[in-house]
Amino acid sequence: MEVKKDRQTLKSKNIKMKGYRNFPMVPRVVFGSGCFDQLGDILMPQRKHSDAPIIFLVDDVFEGTELSKRIPSIFNDQIIFISAAEEPKTTQVDALVQLLKENFSELPSGVVGIGGGTLLDLAKAVAIVLTNDGGAAKYQGWDLVQKKSIYHVGIPTISGTGAEVSRTTVLLGPDKKLGINSDFTTFDQVLLDPDLTAGVPKEQWFYTGMDCYIHCIESLNGTYLNAFSQSYGEKALDLCNEVYLSNLTPEDSRNKLMMASWHGGMSIAYSQVGVAHAMSYGLSYLLGIKHGIGNCLVFQHLSEFYEDGVKGFNQMMKLHQIDLPTGICADLTDAQFDTMVTVAMGMVPLWENALGKNWRKTITPEKLKSIYQKI
Ligand code: NAD
Ligand code: ZN
Repeated sequence: MEVKKDRQTLKSKNIKMKGYRNFPMVPRVVFGSGCFDQLGDILMPQRKHSDAPIIFLVDDVFEGTELSKRIPSIFNDQIIFISAAEEPKTTQVDALVQLLKENFSELPSGVVGIGGGTLLDLAKAVAIVLTNDGGAAKYQGWDLVQKKSIYHVGIPTISGTGAEVSRTTVLLGPDKKLGINSDFTTFDQVLLDPDLTAGVPKEQWFYTGMDCYIHCIESLNGTYLNAFSQSYGEKALDLCNEVYLSNLTPEDSRNKLMMASWHGGMSIAYSQVGVAHAMSYGLSYLLGIKHGIGNCLVFQHLSEFYEDGVKGFNQMMKLHQIDLPTGICADLTDAQFDTMVTVAMGMVPLWENALGKNWRKTITPEKLKSIYQKI
């Protein structure tokens, strides 16, 4: 009886599901300073034979660095350096898959993404499209992927997005920015080596870390919240507060932010994000503003929705002397504001999580435009 009651509560909280969601988790994870050097051993049993390479997709910030020399590439493996200056696109995924199909007679043994959310998402998407025909855009949405993806490994070099643990890969497609959400998206293996994040520039460390902080605030204040999400969200929030508001050693700070990202990702797996993410999608779609900074630009103006969260955020900004850019939306036309508002209002589950089923009573196009105008 208890279970049934619980289930009704969840349903009444608008969690769309046939029963409870049964989602995959990363089955293998290694954590620890220097564990990157175990990658060769981890990959060895996955190698089908010497003609089926491992493809390493690596953030080009590492080109020519010590880390790139430590990549355990053997036989005909490929290391492909990719810029993270722009968020991943479906066309980029398709071009990479085509390149691999043209150059190798065999499917790769595996795909390894080394970088931030951008490279992790690319690796997930390439692994899917290698075995599923028709291009990446075809699979943007929920549970559209039919066939198991290629073995894929995620190695974050910056902490915050939770992309290492999530079952989505967010891509900019021809007509929408939307994730490939599927059971085949989640990594088969994640390698968490906090040392890899040592060189992240301060501003980027803040923006991507705040993605995690905002995941926690949106999850913990959402109507979809349940004990599963709460347990991860609270832990991640504590870790963010430690990292951004107390005086940790650099090593401790890297370790803790890496685990905050993981727990923050787990927290939204069974609930949803909220207002900042919905509006940040609008900014990103129209202006190409990246996820982390976009969330910060919106979140600073969301006191009426997340009063305590915004207070904490402002404290962190002050402590780390972060100045967010201003005047981003100053010269936009009405049509451009309309585009952002339409994209943001289209994120229905995010609004439902944030404000409940009757969210449209609070969120109108005028309301959203007035928030965008402050950015
Ligand atoms: P990113 O991958 O876009 O990288 C940001 C910048 O940091 C880049 O310039 C990159 O070169 C640099 N960088 C990364 N590691 C570095 C290092 N160790 N040293 C120096 N520079 C380094 O950053 P991100 O914020 O992690 O990812 C954003 C992307 O993640 C967006 O595309 C967003 O859509 C996606 N995302 C995905 C999920 C998901 O669940 N799949 C969740 C949130 C965000
Ligand atoms: Zn996010």
